[in-house]
Amino acid sequence: MPELPEVEALAAFLRENAVGKVVTRVDLAGIQTLKTFDPPLSSLAGLEVTGASRTGKFLDLDVSGIHLVVHLARAGWLHWRAELPTAPPKPGKGPLAVRVHLDDGAGFDLTEQGTRKGLAVYVVRSPSSEVPGIARLGPDALAVDAEAFASLMRGRKGQLKGALTDQTLVSGIGNAYSDEILHVAKLSPFKGADKLTDDETLRLYDAVRTTLTDALERQVGQQAAKLKGEKRANLRVHARTGLPCPVCGDTVREVSFADTSLQYCPTCQTGGKPLADRRMSKLLR
Ligand SMILES: [Zn+2]
Repeated sequence: MPELPEVEALAAFLRENAVGKVVTRVDLAGIQTLKTFDPPLSSLAGLEVTGASRTGKFLDLDVSGIHLVVHLARAGWLHWRAELPTAPPKPGKGPLAVRVHLDDGAGFDLTEQGTRKGLAVYVVRSPSSEVPGIARLGPDALAVDAEAFASLMRGRKGQLKGALTDQTLVSGIGNAYSDEILHVAKLSPFKGADKLTDDETLRLYDAVRTTLTDALERQVGQQAAKLKGEKRANLRVHARTGLPCPVCGDTVREVSFADTSLQYCPTCQTGGKPLADRRMSKLLR
């Protein structure tokens, strides 16, 4: 799932490549992707792209005051294409959901792999009031200061993993970077957010900043097509179950949930003790 660094890099890429061009047509191939009806998708045609930005994990393309807002969800992606086919796509076939044509023949596809459809596109005049997911966002993970971050954690009941990925608490961090941040901070994903010492809170705050800033530095300026590989190549624990921890060499472990999983290093994060994995213990019983 694209998180703060990837979405920021996509916004930077669009500022570089799409701003100043005029939208000539927008094709909708995945009907369920479009979550709004007024203004219609067709209202973007003939208007100039005037900006591209990120809010939380949402990508916002400003087309002369009408915003095309995209939430890529788990398996969505933006593919920039120097030359788009002009024939209209067949609806409901393959991963293509939305295709945006620009006046120089270039443009981009919004696609989604797999069957669980989560990719969402909104055409609105005011993203902050008309896109429910944006209206609910907590402060940006890279904008919140140490004091505000500490107070958010103090007021939060429940585990750190859930706190970091809750977009209404702090926005921009998802499943991958929360694993990375907790590993950098040497904290257990199951530790209570409101149980952190002052020192641990500061460590966590620093880890949020360094992890996201490092990823941003690697990704901004990259071609859209290279971002996913760049992200994967630099992960320490996320999606690395069974591989050695790059810090201590211990084996990276996993805890599975119904539709997701987390990865961590026992030596670095949980005093050497593996965390209970309900699914695994059920299998072993
Ligand atoms: Zn380790």
